[in-house]
Amino acid sequence: MDFGFTEEQELVRATAREFAQGEIAPNVREWDAGAIFPVELFKKAGELGFLGVLVPPEYGGAGMGYVEYVTIIEELSKVDPAIGLSVAAHNSLCTGHILLHGDEEQKKRYLPKLATGEWIGAWGLTEPTAGSDAGGTRTSAVRNEEGWTLNGSKTFTTHGSVGQVAVLFAVTTPGIGHHGISAFIVESANPGYKVGKHEDKLGMRASDTAEVVLDDCQVPPNALVGEEGGGFTGAMEVLDGGRISIAALALGTAAGAHGHALAYAGEREQFGRPIGSFQAVQWMLADMATEIEAARLLTYKAAALKDQGRKVTLESSMAKLFSSEVAVRVANNAIQVFGGYGYVKDYPVEKYYRDAKLCTIGEGTSEIQRLVIARQTLGRM
Ligand SMILES: Cc1cc2nc3c(=O)[nH]c(=O)nc-3n(C[C@H](O)[C@H](O)[C@H](O)COP(=O)(O)OP(=O)(O)OC[C@H]3O[C@@H](n4cnc5c(N)ncnc54)[C@H](O)[C@@H]3O)c2cc1C
Repeated sequence: MDFGFTEEQELVRATAREFAQGEIAPNVREWDAGAIFPVELFKKAGELGFLGVLVPPEYGGAGMGYVEYVTIIEELSKVDPAIGLSVAAHNSLCTGHILLHGDEEQKKRYLPKLATGEWIGAWGLTEPTAGSDAGGTRTSAVRNEEGWTLNGSKTFTTHGSVGQVAVLFAVTTPGIGHHGISAFIVESANPGYKVGKHEDKLGMRASDTAEVVLDDCQVPPNALVGEEGGGFTGAMEVLDGGRISIAALALGTAAGAHGHALAYAGEREQFGRPIGSFQAVQWMLADMATEIEAARLLTYKAAALKDQGRKVTLESSMAKLFSSEVAVRVANNAIQVFGGYGYVKDYPVEKYYRDAKLCTIGEGTSEIQRLVIARQTLGRM
């Protein structure tokens, strides 16, 4: 068992770290306060290969593996989890869905644009009445001579208002549940693609989240991605990989908050000594470091297994569940270490606290991860 990284992987980490420090860190507060999605930053991320990490070079991507992908998301999220979330959603969900289930024509049309950041991608499964239970999807797709007409709405769509292309799920055969759901590639320039409510969020504010309304949205026959009726199963396969990236997002969020707490514990003095010399503070820092290391092991293990071509439904859910709950606990304790200064926006830790919570919700809540883990472990008995 080798826990080391290759020279190339270390280089990827150094590049992501430098990018995060140079291009993201100076803007974190402004983007958060203004809920600004930084389009220009995404162009630069695209130039570095961060928007097509898993996409093979023949489609314009970086052709890297999950370990490198996790490394990039971890480093970006240490500095700004909102950027980590957007980069993860773009790579894993929209781009990942087309990479995994698209035909050659779809891959050639969309992957080069997505991998370079020329286009931003969205992926809409969630609906007002279909959150944890995607089987409740109501958006409809009705076949006609020109292809399909889509009607319905998708809530909480990352990049719903800034993306140029989205993979959206709709019912093609009503009344048969999951097996009646199909996936479609829809370009936002389509007149039937309308941006609805823009979400004003607790955290992850630089990551665009919006409702997508499909209003008699006519798409051609080749907008169908994957098999008709295979949308739900396809989405679950995409989420197996996606949840590893949310685990990495949570890991980075926790590590970022911990880093600030460590530094502050060394600087802040009370009772004539640095607060880091008090055992109560030391124990908080020790627990944070230990939990982060455990989250890192689960996350990189899931990534390494995925790179070996193994099915990782169980491992990705475990990594996502544990890392996201660690992120919330660590961010909470980071505020505790900062005392009152942790509670105000002049210091960075309150943002990690706000951002961390999303990790326990997006791409399946903690409760749904426990459901998946229980089913997987019971199934293996
Ligand atoms: C910032 C943000 C970005 C997002 N981006 C996207 C995106 O790009 N694409 C997309 O499709 N979706 C996206 N989502 C949606 C996200 O995936 C859903 O919010 C999530 O799956 C939960 O669905 P829900 O909000 O409807 O909650 P609900 O499903 O209504 O759940 C409410 C509560 O009930 C619990 N619950 C539900 N069912 C069960 C059960 N069977 N057993 C135990 N507990 C249960 C849940 O765990 C939760 O605690 C995003 C959400 C946010 C906030």
